[in-house]
Formats: sequence, structure tokens, C-alpha cells
Amino acid sequence: MTARIIDGKAHAAALRGRVATAVAAFRAVTGRAPGLAVVLVGEDAASSVYVRSKNRATGEAGMRGFEHRLPADTSEADLLALIDRLNADPAVDGILVQLPLPAQIDADAVITRIDPDKDVDGFHPVNVGRLASGLAGFVPCTPLGCLMLLKGVALSLSGLDAVVVGRSAIVGKPMAQLLLAESCTVTIAHSRTRDLPGRVRQADVVVAAVGVPGLVKGDWIKPGATVIDVGINRIVRADGSSSLVGDVDFASAVQVAGAITPVPGGVGPMTIACLMRNAYVSACRREGAAIDPRVDAPEDGGA
Ligand code: NDP
Repeated sequence: MTARIIDGKAHAAALRGRVATAVAAFRAVTGRAPGLAVVLVGEDAASSVYVRSKNRATGEAGMRGFEHRLPADTSEADLLALIDRLNADPAVDGILVQLPLPAQIDADAVITRIDPDKDVDGFHPVNVGRLASGLAGFVPCTPLGCLMLLKGVALSLSGLDAVVVGRSAIVGKPMAQLLLAESCTVTIAHSRTRDLPGRVRQADVVVAAVGVPGLVKGDWIKPGATVIDVGINRIVRADGSSSLVGDVDFASAVQVAGAITPVPGGVGPMTIACLMRNAYVSACRREGAAIDPRVDAPEDGGA
């Protein structure tokens, strides 16, 4: 058996297209574009690439981008003052501070300073609490993208056994909350979990968000399970060439799973698409405008 490959690029392109259509309608009704502010402190190369892609996607969605690039030695007080200005700016619907931040800045202090109703990354404790309580807020973009991919495979996840490997605040924990809200029976595994292969073997849905290349092997996978690989790991070979691999050993898992995301081209493209989705939703909420339900629930079922 060979698994169906879940095409994250196609799903993400479709989501971005739906957001762009909804944004055009929002602009026609309100006379303004949704605004997304992205703040980058320092020169981290990977962060710079992410911020460039986010700004490009913002423009392509018909939204207004506000880019703030600050020097690496920016003080926490100066960054907090910028957050205060963005919180108060009516043209800004979403605020994203690119992580990691330089050592002199306390990331928690910065995240908690963002107005929770502009926190399109969903990292603010208020949004963490809203997710756990089943209230409307913002869900972190990566797990939200994973859920959308899962729903493209099976419309209902109710009653399925799900294992999330990884318990980070930005992926593992919110992913588990989302699966619980879909009525999955959820296990959250981590570095201290005993018999990880045995746990994963029970699962109809496996989400791997670990940061260890190829950790999850094909013989850990229950035949027919859906496997979502969040991992992005750069492997450098002896000859100096490099490539991106996930946390799942794709070559063996694809032989056993029912459906699987590749790396690259799986979860990665969904993250920015979900950021655009969250920024649009934020603008609608702030204007009291209707959120187009087709953004999240396309009539054609997905990509
Ligand atoms: P973190 O490092 O914050 O968390 C990793 C988690 O994996 C921890 O909970 C850790 O357990 C657990 N873990 C580590 N080693 C093992 C092991 N051997 N067995 C079981 N569990 C283990 O990572 P993130 O959640 O931020 O990211 C995970 C991966 O996803 C990375 O590859 C990252 O690059 C990628 N990523 C991809 C995104 C995308 O857009 N596609 C977005 C965000 C992340 P413990 O808590 O016990 O230490």
C-alpha cells in the first residue's frame, strides 16, 4: 500500500485564494483593507526569509502590510512601545512579532503586551485560554493548518485516536486542543514518553512536531493512519549539499500510512496561508463584518 500524498501547497494556494476573495468583499463593504503588522528584531537569516514571505502573501491577499524591522540591539522597552502603538492603530488588525527575539528581550513580555484581539499568531495567554475553553479567539497558524489538512482527508475526525508527538506551546499543545475539540481521543507524547512507538501504533491520526529528523518510522504507523509531519529539519550532507526533511521517516511511512504530508510541501505552506486567514478574520471581527464561512469550509472540500 502506498499512502495518498497530502498536497499542502495546493491546499495553501486554495486557502489563500479564498482569503483574497473574502478580503476583496471586505474592502468593498468597509472601504479599507485588513492590515497586518510584522515586527522583526535583528538580522536572523531564517526569520528574514519568513518575514519576506509573510509580507508578500499579505500583499497578494489584498491586505495592507506594515513591516517593522528593528536593529538587533533594540531594548525591550522600545519594542513594547512599538507594540503599544500598533495596538492603538485602527489600521492594524493583526500583529505578529517574529520569534526568536534577541536575548535582551523577554518574549513572554512582548507576546502578552499584544492586544489579544490582534494576536493573529494565537500565542497570547488569553487566546491559549480561549482555545482550551472553546471560545472564539486565534489559533496558532501551524496547528490550524494541520487541522485543515486533516479535514481534507476525512470530514469527521470524531472518535479517532490521535497521537501528537511534541508538546510545544506553538504546535503540540494547541494541536492537541484542536483534535480534542474535534472529538478525537488525544495522547500528547514528548521526550519522556515511554514506548513512543507503541503509542504511535495505536493512532488513526499522527501529528509529529518534534524537531528530530525521521524520528517516526514506518513500522510505528498503524496501517491506513493519517500522518501529518510538522518537522522542518535541514540535513547537511558530507559533500556540503543540504535538504529539508521532516520528523517522520517518509520513505518507510509512505508504505504504511493511508495519507501523509511530504516535507517540504506539506504543513509548511499552510502556516502562512493560515496567518492570512487569521488576519482577515481579525479585521472582520474588529469591523463587526460577517466572516465568509467559505474561507474555512470550502464548498469543494479543500484544494
Ligand atoms: P520544540 O523544540 O519547541 O518542541 C519539540 C517537542 O518535541 C518537545 O515537546 C519535546 O519534548 C519533543 N521531543 C523532542 N525529542 C523527542 C523525542 N526523541 N521523542 C519524543 N518527543 C521528543 O519544537 P516546535 O514544536 O517548535 O517544532 C517542532 C518541529 O516543527 C521543528 O522541526 C520545527 O522546525 C517545526 N515547525 C514547523 C512549522 C511549520 O510551519 N511547518 C512551524 C513550527 C515548527 P519535551 O517537551 O519533553 O522536551
